[in-house]
Amino acid sequence: MEVYLASPWIPRELVEVHGLVPRGLFCAPAFGTATPRMAEGVCSFAQQSLELARTHCGQDNAVVFGSSCDQMRRGFDLVGEPQKTNVFLFNLPATWQSDAAQHLFRAEFERFTRFLERLGGRRQADESAATIIDGARDARAKLRSLWNKLRARGFAECIARFHWDGRAIVEPASDANADAGVPVAVVGGPLTQAQLVILDAIESAGGRVALNATETGERSLGLETPFPGRAAGSTGGLARFFFSRIIDVWQRPNTRLYAWLRERIEERNVRGIVLWHHVGCDLWRAEAASLREAFGLPILTLDSEQAHSDRPRLAHRIAAFMEILK
Ligand code: SF4
Repeated sequence: MEVYLASPWIPRELVEVHGLVPRGLFCAPAFGTATPRMAEGVCSFAQQSLELARTHCGQDNAVVFGSSCDQMRRGFDLVGEPQKTNVFLFNLPATWQSDAAQHLFRAEFERFTRFLERLGGRRQADESAATIIDGARDARAKLRSLWNKLRARGFAECIARFHWDGRAIVEPASDANADAGVPVAVVGGPLTQAQLVILDAIESAGGRVALNATETGERSLGLETPFPGRAAGSTGGLARFFFSRIIDVWQRPNTRLYAWLRERIEERNVRGIVLWHHVGCDLWRAEAASLREAFGLPILTLDSEQAHSDRPRLAHRIAAFMEILK
């Protein structure tokens, strides 16, 4: 059985540990190839997740939503009704510093485990579970190390492949020139395969994506949290491990996100920020002022409608932004 996960923060390893196949819904090949008509205020990413969930959620598959925003919670309500047993809402705590948030995540972790068992999943023996978890941790670390070794699209595609089938396949030859182009960060919500044209356009205009901090980019690989290998038998330890790697805009306070960004923006000499958001995503759209204040860098805001419908204008805006940064 395939279990489609609508957020990179839902622990895919746990699905695998139960003998089921985790798939990042946001990396599905069909995702983003068509932009559905949306009502005013509806997030295009949430809408597409909902459409895909409807087609993927059958007797042989399951879909898991994350509660990261109202749009996703609403999506769960809509798709969850007809096929309740194969749809799950993973409640992701909106705060991260308190014991209560840790407890909530652990409770959700255990509820998710019961859901996987209800689907027919059976937890593997501790040794096998530890191998899966350690293997995924190593794959994430390997992918994280590629940020300056691949062109932006290649890097994003490697990460997408990992979220789709768990593999960290890396081409042996590096194709990036770490010194070429103006270093910029792309920060924001999920960037689907069909939207990677944004990264191409930045490179074509003389930029270099030194940081892909979208929800489907380097950020989705999580923090390099130390975790003692072979400790998969401890539910509490595992829950803490999965919770601690979340870095996102909906968490309050947002200091973890900004600390993660700052470390990389400074280390990589980033000169400008492209803020990427889906149409209807107020969470990321509202972040422009905070990013400007935090980093003092020029910001270009792009949305999913521009990426889909007006490519010449998109290329023109990116080129103009690069001129400013040069
Ligand atoms: S892009 Fe924004 S509004 Fe859409 S699902 Fe993600 S956080 Fe929610």
